Amino acid sequence: MAAATLSVQRTLKTSVVPPLVVILGATGTGKSKLAIELGRRLQGEVVSADSMQVYKGLDIITNKVTAEEQAQCCHHMISFLDPLVSSYTVVDFRNRALSLIEDLHHRQKLPIVVGGTNYYIESLLWKVLLDSGASGGLKETSVSPDLKAELEKLGGPELHRQLKTVDPDMAAMLHPHDARKIARSLQVYQEMGMPHSQLLERQRSQEGGDGLGGPLRFREPCIFWLHADMDVLDERLDKRVDEMLSQGLITELQDFHERYNQQKVQDNRQNYQHGIFQSIGFKEFHEYLTAAGDTSQEQRDKLKDKGIEALKMATRRYARKQNKWVRNRFLKTSNKGAARTWKKLQDASGPGSNVPPVFGLDVTDVSEWEKNVLTPALQILESLQKGEPTAVEPIRVEGAGQRNKRSLHTCELCDKIVIGDLEWTAHLKSKNHHYHKKRKTESSKKHDHGPDRDATPPTEHLNQAGAAVPVPHVDTSLDPPNT
Ligand SMILES: [Zn+2]
Repeated sequence: MAAATLSVQRTLKTSVVPPLVVILGATGTGKSKLAIELGRRLQGEVVSADSMQVYKGLDIITNKVTAEEQAQCCHHMISFLDPLVSSYTVVDFRNRALSLIEDLHHRQKLPIVVGGTNYYIESLLWKVLLDSGASGGLKETSVSPDLKAELEKLGGPELHRQLKTVDPDMAAMLHPHDARKIARSLQVYQEMGMPHSQLLERQRSQEGGDGLGGPLRFREPCIFWLHADMDVLDERLDKRVDEMLSQGLITELQDFHERYNQQKVQDNRQNYQHGIFQSIGFKEFHEYLTAAGDTSQEQRDKLKDKGIEALKMATRRYARKQNKWVRNRFLKTSNKGAARTWKKLQDASGPGSNVPPVFGLDVTDVSEWEKNVLTPALQILESLQKGEPTAVEPIRVEGAGQRNKRSLHTCELCDKIVIGDLEWTAHLKSKNHHYHKKRKTESSKKHDHGPDRDATPPTEHLNQAGAAVPVPHVDTSLDPPNT
């Protein structure tokens, strides 16, 4: 291990390989821990790609690294924005993060991106957003927040009607109530003199793009995906909420509410869909935080417990969405390039493939963390740096056909990720699987799930007729999702 570490370090002194390490994984999978350990060993610095951590405040609920952790490895893109700023977009993030990464490269440091927020990571991996450079001098920064705010006041249905006349393709992909995105598209049309859909189409057709969201920004980034059995993760997530509570979560929320939210609520202009107020764990305590002065202690305690339960549920739901995003973005069959090592299969897959391979690391068993997570991650990085095939293969995409011991399967019934065909066959026969199958069938008769409004990038939208239509990679620069 020590030798591996050393040789990676040596090469980093001349050029930074890989140019970017990205650590993906649902909340609670220990992304920060891995980032810090890699950073310490490989002269890396951590770039947080989290749309809530950019704000000052709510340190506990947004899971910021502690001062102690920051001392072990330099962290960036955390706590630099005033919580009342509501105009910060993924474009702002991207611009700042890219210049930071450039600076790290100059200083021969390995950039380790930890995410976080899907759109933020995508903006670093792919040239998906409106670019001010080559594509005809378009400048996204010229897009004024004022115009969009003005437009938004008109309301979704009216905006949608307007968009339909100037950009029917885009209108068909957006829900009539999604005023923010519709306003964004109208704004692009007004300020750039071109339908938003056409602009996105143009970007996708740029060299290297294959319709999944533009060409890769960095050659051969190294992507790790930390995954765990969901029942184990759920337990861990619940426990973490309890830890947050003992760290002073309630005081943090109360304090933040008084400083930044109370007035807004009183003026009836609070909108939990903007800026840091979207943060999971803040809106869940709205009732508790805004309870009238004469509310009894008993009633207060009830509201608090309700908030805690809602927070636990939202966290679990969010973890699932994060995994779903990884699967949709990186591990579907249509992503032709994903199932290969960069060097070994480069010729076979040819240029134009723009989905980087993803290395899966199983974090289910924390007692085996070094063996299952840190050691393979270091080995993979060393191989990439030497231009050799990695000992651990990247995850083979779902439905890729070929028998492969690293192929990915997901059991929706058990909420379980299974890597490997043999393991999958075994899983389908397992008692556990049959148990969940039985249970889910029973409970699906009881529950009726309403629409889930947590913001994550859509992979499909309902069009007006109610049919699902695929959404190509849409510029979401004004729609930072939740952490
Ligand atoms: Zn199963």
